[in-house]
Amino acid sequence: MGPRFFVGGNFKMNGTQAFLKNLIDNLNTKQFDKDVEVVIAPPSLYLDQCRKQANKEIGVAAQNAFNASSGAYTGEISPEQLKDLGIEWVILGHSERREIFKESDEFVALKVAFALKSSIKVIACIGEKLEERESGKTFEVVTRQLQAIAKEVNDWTNVVIAYEPVWAIGTGKVATPQQAQEVHEYIRKWLKENVSEATAENTRIIYGGSVNASNSAELAKQQDINGFLVGGASLKPEFVNIVNARI
Ligand code: PGA
Repeated sequence: MGPRFFVGGNFKMNGTQAFLKNLIDNLNTKQFDKDVEVVIAPPSLYLDQCRKQANKEIGVAAQNAFNASSGAYTGEISPEQLKDLGIEWVILGHSERREIFKESDEFVALKVAFALKSSIKVIACIGEKLEERESGKTFEVVTRQLQAIAKEVNDWTNVVIAYEPVWAIGTGKVATPQQAQEVHEYIRKWLKENVSEATAENTRIIYGGSVNASNSAELAKQQDINGFLVGGASLKPEFVNIVNARI
């Protein structure tokens, strides 16, 4: 059976009040597979609007949060502030944050630990770039990113790991089910050997990178794929089909 399937929608820097109202009105009327945990991640400006509007069964995530509760950190938002709005989750370490905003493995790990300590659940993203895959470094990169997090985090109960190969994000070049399964299996083995058997069994390892309604069913059949983090397609009606990929 495995842990509960998880599908996240990462809206990135997209949407307006009107667009998101329409999108969530629509999601609220849909029949989701009951065995799937659904979480949407709007831009921080719209977190309040989306949390108030979305059904309680739909979780809401921020796309980032800093590792302090409050203070002189211009432009940042804190896990405490997320809690204040009733936000349950945060995405951390997304490759766009790592690449464009130069977030290091260590910084991501500190933010993961701080969010968890503040009772915000974390979708922690890892994954290799194209040149790293092509030079056979996929496992090495994923290990390095996991190790940094494991150094700061002991209890993984409230962590979902998103494996998102950078070459598959927003490119339409989805990993094959076999390519994804291979890395997911590796991550689970790594958790077993470096954290604990229970953590390996219970932690959701979700795949992200060009997931859509046509490829989600095959990916969802893989033993170690426990869900998806969906970018572009989460802004479209097909998001519902991805949530329901297993029925
Ligand atoms: P994509 O993005 O589905 O548009 O490839 C995934 C992500 O960045 O989480």
